[in-house]
Amino acid sequence: MDYLARKYLRAQKIPSSACSGCGLGQVHKKVLLAIDELGLAIGDIVWGTGIGCSGRQTFNTWQGDNFAGTHGRVYAIATGLRLALPPEKKIILTVGDGDAFGIGLLHLLHSARRNVDMTVIVADNFGYQSTGGQYGLTTPSGAVTDSSPYGMQDPNWVQDGRDILDILRGAGAGFLARHTSVEGQNAVESIKQAIAFKGFSLVHIAYPCITNFFGKAFGSRNPVAAYRWITERTNPPAGQNVDGIIFHTGIYHVAESRPEFSAQLRKLTEALQKEGQDETDGDLN
Ligand code: SF4
Repeated sequence: MDYLARKYLRAQKIPSSACSGCGLGQVHKKVLLAIDELGLAIGDIVWGTGIGCSGRQTFNTWQGDNFAGTHGRVYAIATGLRLALPPEKKIILTVGDGDAFGIGLLHLLHSARRNVDMTVIVADNFGYQSTGGQYGLTTPSGAVTDSSPYGMQDPNWVQDGRDILDILRGAGAGFLARHTSVEGQNAVESIKQAIAFKGFSLVHIAYPCITNFFGKAFGSRNPVAAYRWITERTNPPAGQNVDGIIFHTGIYHVAESRPEFSAQLRKLTEALQKEGQDETDGDLN
């Protein structure tokens, strides 16, 4: 991380304020690796962050332009920026599972529906960890959390036949992928494709929250046990799944080309301006 951190992150933001052993740094590193391998410069990217651990720990870390939004609003701000900025400028957002799949879901779905050119990295720590560890929309079924002392009973977005990526695909998302923080270059490749995609792209990356999720669900803050738990459930060989929690990873969906929202509006604006100019020229003649 050192080389990437020095090259792309603000010195005063290093080291991160995340808890010791937190997997969020692995997620952030994969995005930086993807940027590096794509050969993008600091000025090529505007970086937005949401709320919660993923937003707080990555907020204002990028050496270039940054912005932040409350739950869900980061997509709305990104849409406005997409319309205002040159089309070649990349917009990357780091948000959490609560922001993307819970409180901010409606904004996210509308960004997918409009096919706004942005890349959303959902850093998923299995619940609302920055507020002490309440269950959320990706908390494994039955997990003990601060708000589910007898095990979570609320159906989540990732088990029992439900998949939030299906919902996003139905809404029109162009590029969707899922990974875990313990994966390597395959996750970086997906992020690279997402950033290069002209339209709405999202990469969902699960990572271990040592302090709250593992501390409460497993009664231990041992990072080794946490990383073993997530590794064993990342694409396990058939028959080796112990509790039904499986992270099937890789690229989930790439759409046929759809018109990108800002490009469509830009085209319309140019046509209207030309029409107006023709009318003015006609009046002068
Ligand atoms: S509370 Fe959990 S997710 Fe948040 S920084 Fe600490 S270990 Fe990471």
